[in-house]
Amino acid sequence: MTTASDSILHPFTNLSQTAPAPIRTFAKGDGLYVIGDDGERYFEAMSGLWSVSLGFSEKRLADAATRQLQSLPFYHIFMSSSHEQVRELAEALIARAPGQLAHVGFSTSGSEANETAVKAVWQYNNVLGRPQKKKIIARWDAYHGSTALAASLCGLPNMHSGFDLPLGPILHTGSPHHWRHAKPGETEEAFATRLADELEQMIQREGPDTIAAFIAEPIMGAGGVIVPPASYFDKIVPVLKKHDILLIADEIICGFGRTGTYWGSELCGIEPDILVCGKQLSGGYLPISATLMTDEIYSVIATETSRSGGFSHGFTHSGNPVCAAVANEAIRIYDERDIVAGVARKAEVFHAALREAFTGAEHVGEVRGVGLLGAVELAPEGDPRRSFADKAGALWARDIYETEKTVVRAVHDAVVLCPPLIVEEGDLIALVERLRRSYDRVLPQIR
Ligand code: PLP
Repeated sequence: MTTASDSILHPFTNLSQTAPAPIRTFAKGDGLYVIGDDGERYFEAMSGLWSVSLGFSEKRLADAATRQLQSLPFYHIFMSSSHEQVRELAEALIARAPGQLAHVGFSTSGSEANETAVKAVWQYNNVLGRPQKKKIIARWDAYHGSTALAASLCGLPNMHSGFDLPLGPILHTGSPHHWRHAKPGETEEAFATRLADELEQMIQREGPDTIAAFIAEPIMGAGGVIVPPASYFDKIVPVLKKHDILLIADEIICGFGRTGTYWGSELCGIEPDILVCGKQLSGGYLPISATLMTDEIYSVIATETSRSGGFSHGFTHSGNPVCAAVANEAIRIYDERDIVAGVARKAEVFHAALREAFTGAEHVGEVRGVGLLGAVELAPEGDPRRSFADKAGALWARDIYETEKTVVRAVHDAVVLCPPLIVEEGDLIALVERLRRSYDRVLPQIR
């Protein structure tokens, strides 16, 4: 058996020799399925890493990559260079972006795109002559990536411990997860009001002139598919505006229809100053991400570049033409197949099935989600203040994988779901049935 203690440093994997995690090796993709090297077909209900929106065998994406590899396989966009694919992609993103976003920088990963956002904010405030306005407020339970700065933004303790993080002027405020963090009897509305009040207090404590930006995933993904209360952003945004604090929307998971709207920002009614996207941007096939910003931010940074000679930030593969060509094709497919409307329609079936299968079931604490993001969280007698001694979520996810041949993810004691956007209603119902069969099998083992 292959184990994690081999030559590869597998991310987010137990690498120890004493408790080696078995490695699952996949050889081929086919629509909603990945096929293991044992020949077994697995329904991929996580879209890989929340990314493979159009399934694992979209020929148009492969063809777009091949065409570009055969014409211009590489050119950079440093020092006034450009190429057609990146220009087309920038226009496509700006045309679809919410609010006033008018400029776009490219990176290869979500982590880098978030770093680009933070560095742009820092330079913006330096140019404006307020060098003390640098702190970024992120939230507990958030995931923003793995590089030192992006991991610092995360609100997940495992991203900090052992790495001497967070570094830099990063603060964390409360997670908007009502079920887990509300006080007994606190309504969603009251909870959202309290979070906005706590944010205001943090800003006052730190000094409003020291806070540069607030970063938020519209719907939190890796923290466990956390949908904020309906009025959450309505209460948070005025606090930010009052203190001239920029809003960064991390749409790395939400972007391109995942939430049943083109952007999670639309769902949440926000118009961010900076929007970060990636993953589904290329249908998850090639590494490309983007940081969109308003003309106001861009123009201020541009002032500095006229003094210094250039914006000293970027990566070899920023706007790589092959990645950009695949992203352009993915965006065309989203439009042509009206993927967003399809998600909104299918989401109703998905969430109705999840609720019917699990609401009120033993030890089920919460059934939640939006669009094609879902989660079922277990807790002893459904009580968010208690947890099982054993890793109930991991046990459940393992059973779903081994017995139902379905890939899901465990977060705490929740199983989270993020199927490809091309999933059909029948697939979603079958997925929920598999989850429920597995739950019935695993329940007697949970302590
Ligand atoms: N932001 C969010 C919301 C994410 O979910 C992720 C990855 O899962 C990232 C940022 C980091 O993206 P990457 O792994 O491409 O660096």
